[in-house]
Amino acid sequence: MKNIKKYLMIPGPTQVPTEVALASAMPMINHRSKDFKDVLLNITTKMKKFYKTEKGEIFVLTSSGTGGMETAIVNTLSPNDKVLVLSIGNFGERFAKICKSYGLDTETIDFEYGSAIDPKVVDERLSKDKNKEIKAVLMQHNETSTGVVNNIEAVAKVIKKHGALIIVDAVSGLLSADLRMDEWGLDVVVSGSQKAFMVPPGIAFIGISERTWDYIEKSKLPKFYYDLKQYKKFVANGETPWTPAISVCFGLNKAIDMLLEEGIENVIKRHEELRNATRAGVRALDGFKLLAKDECASRAVTSVYPKEGVDAEEFRKIVREKYGVVLAGGQGSLKGKIFRISHLGYIDQLDTIAAFAAIEMALVEMGQKIELGKSISAIQESLLNKVAISSKS
Ligand SMILES: *Cc1c(COP(=O)(O)O)cnc(C)c1O
Repeated sequence: MKNIKKYLMIPGPTQVPTEVALASAMPMINHRSKDFKDVLLNITTKMKKFYKTEKGEIFVLTSSGTGGMETAIVNTLSPNDKVLVLSIGNFGERFAKICKSYGLDTETIDFEYGSAIDPKVVDERLSKDKNKEIKAVLMQHNETSTGVVNNIEAVAKVIKKHGALIIVDAVSGLLSADLRMDEWGLDVVVSGSQKAFMVPPGIAFIGISERTWDYIEKSKLPKFYYDLKQYKKFVANGETPWTPAISVCFGLNKAIDMLLEEGIENVIKRHEELRNATRAGVRALDGFKLLAKDECASRAVTSVYPKEGVDAEEFRKIVREKYGVVLAGGQGSLKGKIFRISHLGYIDQLDTIAAFAAIEMALVEMGQKIELGKSISAIQESLLNKVAISSKS
């Protein structure tokens, strides 16, 4: 069926509320006008609440999240600088690739897929760096490819002892998990419009701590479009150096107000409850396995190994084409091996239940003998009782 109703259950771009879509549909305005200045100031001022920063500054970039990651690197480092990437999946590997493309001396510590960064391992490595050669440490807040959330507070604590710049990709993490830029001493924090913010793709944000400006002054990596010194100059007048994605800014402005009305802690709790329900649903599907461990399970997305004999891609195709439920596939080395169910952004309880109803029906169609409704009732129970994540096997 061509015009089948879609349930977008991928971890970005996420579903967009009608209010946000309508705000994005407003006519264009001059990006060098008082009207746009008001929009930009509203975004940057309120974004500080999400970043939990008072001392830091937020800049709005017209790019996807990866552009924000690149902005973080090219503005703070110089050729041949040594950097340490803490990788727990595909986006960690992307950080390393960007660093290498700019000729940085890049060392990566890979942690097993499904686990989080171990702060002890980081501490051991940084303690050996007596001459302070490592200039920056880069990591993900939430790793979307495996569905794992890092304990940034604990990792940042050990990096602080060393003194390297702390660069965090919080594109899927911000608002799906707690993040405190000032309190945890994070220097550069990247996020984007198309994940928990429920806005179409096109805008990335970057938070910059006070001490990062020393690095920015000294940085010699090439840059033009992403030069933060230009952004700083223009933001004083409520402008961006280049034409911004004005429609996305309109939508973001609306979404920010909706999220602040809901309350930041409630937004995180909503993600957590759906995460718990989704994991309960997966556990009720015989033979299906969760990739991420309970203690570091992402509130944004759940990665699942299907039962043996069920091809992940064929299964996703049936769920998508017959029922309109769009699940994400695996990325990098997990391609074809797992599927991912998102609970990020504008996804609600009934979306999750609908997705599992489709999953069960597709399994029956693939010849699997399953008890219909088992995952649905596990989800309903979880949502009604707010069952703790590890209290049920
Ligand atoms: C989505 C995402 C990004 C950005 O990806 P783009 O496709 O460039 O928007 C970066 N890091 C993480 C952890 C993400 O989930």
